[in-house]
Amino acid sequence: MTSVVGHYIHGATLAPQSGKIIDIINPATAQVCGKVEMASSQTVQQAIDSATKAYPAWRATPPAKRAQIMFRFKMLLEQHSDEICRLLSLEHGKVLHDAKGELQRGIENVEFACGMPQLLKGEHSKDVGPGIDAWCEFQPLGVVAGITPFNFPAMVPLWMWPSAIMCGNTFVLKPSEKNPSSAMLLAALASEAGLPPGVLNVVNGDKAAVDRLIEDQTIQAISFVGSTPVAEAIYSKASQYGKRCQALGGAKNHAIVMPDADLDNVVNALMGAAYGSCGERCMAISVVVAVGDDIANSLKDKLVGQIGALKVGPGSDNSNDMGPLISEPHFTTVKNFIASGVEQGAELVCDGRTLSVEGHENGYFLGATLFDHVQPHMEIYQKEIFGPVLVMVRVPDMAKAVELINAHEYGNGTCLFTRDGEAARFFIDQVQVGMVGVNVPLPVPVSYHSFGGWKRSLFGDLHAYGPDSVRFYTRRKAVTQRWPSANLREGSQFSFPSN
Ligand code: NAD
Repeated sequence: MTSVVGHYIHGATLAPQSGKIIDIINPATAQVCGKVEMASSQTVQQAIDSATKAYPAWRATPPAKRAQIMFRFKMLLEQHSDEICRLLSLEHGKVLHDAKGELQRGIENVEFACGMPQLLKGEHSKDVGPGIDAWCEFQPLGVVAGITPFNFPAMVPLWMWPSAIMCGNTFVLKPSEKNPSSAMLLAALASEAGLPPGVLNVVNGDKAAVDRLIEDQTIQAISFVGSTPVAEAIYSKASQYGKRCQALGGAKNHAIVMPDADLDNVVNALMGAAYGSCGERCMAISVVVAVGDDIANSLKDKLVGQIGALKVGPGSDNSNDMGPLISEPHFTTVKNFIASGVEQGAELVCDGRTLSVEGHENGYFLGATLFDHVQPHMEIYQKEIFGPVLVMVRVPDMAKAVELINAHEYGNGTCLFTRDGEAARFFIDQVQVGMVGVNVPLPVPVSYHSFGGWKRSLFGDLHAYGPDSVRFYTRRKAVTQRWPSANLREGSQFSFPSN
């Protein structure tokens, strides 16, 4: 019998209550591989109550003690890496080697959180006035919540809760209902590492659970990662409820290829960045902007050659390059995008719809797809497809390429391929995008630099993880202190205090 994933509340698994149960689908086979309960309002309340109860003692726990738990948690993640990656591959579809990469980037965030006492030290100024000292300290917010997408079921939760709890908050996580099991396993490992009950709680659910979290008066802040329409809705609703919110959304990441670039390197880089994880990464390159027709023609030939050699199949076979898309509806959406590209007059160079994976004919497999001669008004250029579809736009020069990127609604990641330092400096300075690579196709910042896009790729001010996470998960208190000497009494002063 298929087990039903419940919730993780107060340091233990909470078996499903009376909520709606939905299937978890293995996208490589289209078979049900598990089930998960959608939390009722009462279950969400239980998680919030648990986090509220745990907060005072956790807030008072010295940061170095919190860090000791985090160190043990990191070791447990490494010890359980195979198990976590198997779950990621089963419920998401990504190939095991890609799952390993995801987990490793998540572990980096735990390592960063281990060092957080250093960032919580505050700011101190002695003698700001006669006998007066002043400082700012970073105090936790209280109970905070995180809502995460399907495409990085382990890494994105690890962007959030390790930093949040290291700052002294307690946490309620709502992972994607499409692949909830790895977040549950991570919570159990955190308990095994010594995290007190209630500091981290996981509720599985859908929009109803998210709404409940946002509307709750106890919850102080919301971190969200997902698609732009949902990010925008959550940001405005959280603001309406007086909450601090960071909501990271979708993307359309362009790579510019200059005439002087090393084309073999570029094509290798583009293949991984466009088709790795079946294009279901918010930093995936989905538009290649070729500067000049010669470059475009050569790129096209080389990409076609490599697409022919791409190995697509189930994520459990580590020799594959790319697994399936996440779900049947998403599979249909991506195929509809390809049809729209053809209808709107783009040149379909490689059509992934013709792919069939032997033994996995029902899986949501789509081959690598390449369009050329794509125009900015086309839907396949404007919209985030979130699949293995790379579109090529031809421009005459670098200025036009940057203009094109800057006119796009998204501004998550971008990359320039060149050997020209002057062009690179211009690009870095002028491009309206939050994360920029030069000859680095997926410029995902390491854990000690924060992650975030510009424009409609992020709603809010502070980016995810890294130094920004300390700012997001704490509020500053400015203290001014004097201990007057008993023999030095001051009279009342009616002018505004100054030094
Ligand atoms: P999604 O927006 O459908 O779902 C994200 C989360 O929100 C899930 O937990 C889901 O249950 C919940 N949710 C969905 N609809 C909701 C609603 N109407 N109200 C409240 N909650 C709702 O996103 P997804 O399909 O899981 O993930 C893919 C998207 O996430 C892509 O657009 C991708 O670009 C984006 N993404 C962005 C980043 C980033 O850092 N900018 C990182 C990863 C993924």
